[in-house]
Amino acid sequence: MRYISTRGQAPALNFEDVLLAGLATDGGLYVPENLPRFTQEEIASWAGLPYHELAFQVMRPFVAGSIPDADFKQILGETYAAFEHKSVAPLRQLGANEWVLELFHGPTLAFKDFALQLLGRLLDYFLLKRGERVVIMGATSGDTGSAAIEGCRRCENVDIFILHPHQRVSDVQRRQMTTILGENIHNIAIEGNFDDCQEMVKASFADQGFLKGTRLVAVNSINWARIMAQIVYYFHAALQLGGPARSMAFSVPTGNFGDIFAGYLARNMGLPISQLIVATNRNDILHRFMSGNQYDKDTLHPSLSPSMDIMVSSNFERLLFDLHGRNGSLVAQLMSTFKETGKLSVDNERWTEARRLFDSLAVDDDSTCETITKVYEDCGELLDPHTAIGVRAARECRRSMSTPMITLGTAHPVKFPEAVLKAAVDIEPELPAHLTDLFDREERCTVLPNHLRDVQQFVAAHGNRGRPL
Ligand SMILES: *Cc1c(COP(=O)(O)O)cnc(C)c1O
Repeated sequence: MRYISTRGQAPALNFEDVLLAGLATDGGLYVPENLPRFTQEEIASWAGLPYHELAFQVMRPFVAGSIPDADFKQILGETYAAFEHKSVAPLRQLGANEWVLELFHGPTLAFKDFALQLLGRLLDYFLLKRGERVVIMGATSGDTGSAAIEGCRRCENVDIFILHPHQRVSDVQRRQMTTILGENIHNIAIEGNFDDCQEMVKASFADQGFLKGTRLVAVNSINWARIMAQIVYYFHAALQLGGPARSMAFSVPTGNFGDIFAGYLARNMGLPISQLIVATNRNDILHRFMSGNQYDKDTLHPSLSPSMDIMVSSNFERLLFDLHGRNGSLVAQLMSTFKETGKLSVDNERWTEARRLFDSLAVDDDSTCETITKVYEDCGELLDPHTAIGVRAARECRRSMSTPMITLGTAHPVKFPEAVLKAAVDIEPELPAHLTDLFDREERCTVLPNHLRDVQQFVAAHGNRGRPL
């Protein structure tokens, strides 16, 4: 399988190089040159497979030529054995033909484990073969950081630096990062906000001189491997509920358009999906595009669902590429206009196509809490605020009562106690067994001023298992 850039000017790469690449050299994102397509018979024949074997069937074409089948099978077996629940991604029924796909049974209690547990193992596999070391730098407002650290903690050839805004992530989220001790794990608390962290990571990717030749790898969802791993659970859910013989509807709590883009790809690969709902919080740039063809940058509104607090959606460019007939120069033009003006809209015909592909809804904090309360009272299921946004959108946008409606349950409620408290339900979510001592564990973290130079000096001084690069 070869991968091409959404802006059309970068060399095509194989899977191994895409995994290690981050952004393409022309500023674009990598996508598969040709999407694999499965027949209904093929998909039907996967019914009943354990999660890791289904994952092998769905992802195999994407890694073809880069990983032998036997090695890939072994990596996937190890990856999904790290999940607490036997079925890996269980479905929970909320109402008539209405379900939540629980994606929070991995080590850090959010769906990001599905991709980052795999990404860490894939990096280890390729780096060992190449005899290379890499540095990972990532910015997090919460979930990405802990999932990336958990995913890479055992990687022999990776040093991972995660930047979070000092005193602006929740205690659970911080501790999930800072209590993982290892000479290749480096938590940096920046005296600034999340955007400051993200800007420093972006600047470091743009000019990597400070790394003295060591390669920098991305762990956010611009990395193709993350999207690829998320395609699998759409197939998994559908097969549990009678697919592919019947079609499914999915509602997806969305920030950077990564998780829902995986659903869009699953549909293009042959899985019958009759409705895909983009569910956002008040940071609703995607909803404004879907409902009014206005993809315009707004200020950031902190919400009760912080993992979806974004101003722009980094994977949206991957959809634009398809909407424009995979014409990279059109995408490059649009993105350069967006960079200058903070505004983007597309031809009417292409926008109509986008509306055919997706429904959307923005859900504010009050409605989020209302939904948490209602679902808890109706069926005793405690939702986290992100999942609640998905369920709200599912209920308001639903087109067919006879089609199973599946909301992606993106996080465990214990990660977001503030929203649960506001929803005034009468239980307190509890940490699962492997995390009950989280608040007794030793923390390790370095606080640094909001200056790029200080951060880069720190990385250079510790990037080789705690020693200088
Ligand atoms: C990251 C995250 C999201 C948003 O996922 P995208 O791929 O950015 O759309 C939603 N919910 C939770 C809990 C998350 O951690």
